[in-house]
Amino acid sequence: METKILPVDENSLRLAKVIIEHGGVVGMPTETVYGLGANAFDSSAVESIFKIKGRPNDNPLIVHVHAEYDLNLLVSEIPDYARKLAKVYLPGPLTMVYKSKGAVSGAVSCGLDTLAIRIPSHEGAQKFLKYVNLPIAAPSANVSKHVSPTSADHVYADLNGRIELILDGGKCSGGIESTVLDCTGKVPVILRSGLVTREMIAKVAGDCEEYVYREGGKALSPGMKYKHYSPKCRTKLFASNELSKAMEYYGEQIKKGVRAVIMCDSLTAVKVAGNVLDLGCTGAEIAANLYGKLREGEEIADEIIAIEPENQDGVMVGVMNRLKKACAELK
Ligand code: AMP
Ligand code: MG
Repeated sequence: METKILPVDENSLRLAKVIIEHGGVVGMPTETVYGLGANAFDSSAVESIFKIKGRPNDNPLIVHVHAEYDLNLLVSEIPDYARKLAKVYLPGPLTMVYKSKGAVSGAVSCGLDTLAIRIPSHEGAQKFLKYVNLPIAAPSANVSKHVSPTSADHVYADLNGRIELILDGGKCSGGIESTVLDCTGKVPVILRSGLVTREMIAKVAGDCEEYVYREGGKALSPGMKYKHYSPKCRTKLFASNELSKAMEYYGEQIKKGVRAVIMCDSLTAVKVAGNVLDLGCTGAEIAANLYGKLREGEEIADEIIAIEPENQDGVMVGVMNRLKKACAELK
């Protein structure tokens, strides 16, 4: 199968609709990362997402809908705080988990009685979702456990030959996956941190908790227990106050003939002599650049030596979660 990359326009949307209506999958842009979308009502289409990605079949998918879609068709028991949050932050990089009505295929939530819903703000995503007017189940459009894609080229690099179409909506502005928020209880609970931070949620909802997964424990969001976001080369992570230790390690690797590269923020980059992948300064910049730099690193290096950015912006909670997972030994 030849994989086409097309800009989002009348032509590509028509093709995307035909593919979706025939049970196929489409690579789609969003403001966070690119998604691999299929009709959420169609079990065999949803199952093919898991096959194409090699995704574990207990890791549920997020359903994407356009801004005018009637959520009451899919979920029940939307609490007041969720309505308030939706008013302020949607469309945007916030996924909300509700009690499912069981309308979509059971394969979407892998047997859970809840459903994760997202309304992306990306213009191309909204156009696609309106054009098909169906709930679209979509995980990130990478091979399972690899770094998430933030451009159409990244999707192509992972899935060329396995999907028919990638809608090209440019580089993702957000860069890390959406915040996943459990809205089934009295208080919203963050299951995965992202660009909509705990402070932002608490400000509108009055309160917000954060679920911390510990290995071997119960994973409220099954994706928590898997290794994620990993480049194909070796990785090593140093804390922000370990610059000299990191540089010593870098020197040793270079001496051994290892193609090593340093990945750090701009403030640190100016202090470093050597091969550097500069993530930028602000939390938003670092989030937007992280996956692209990890993918760049794996192409040019045997080992990425990452130094934790000093930046303490709220979004850095999500960034550090991704960076730690990218450098972790979880299987
Ligand atoms: P991905 O689409 O690859 O970014 O992953 C989706 C994330 O959303 C995973 O961490 C899932 O565990 C989580 N998720 C999806 N549906 C649910 C749900 N019904 N309840 C809890 N977490 C969910
Ligand atoms: Mg993913």
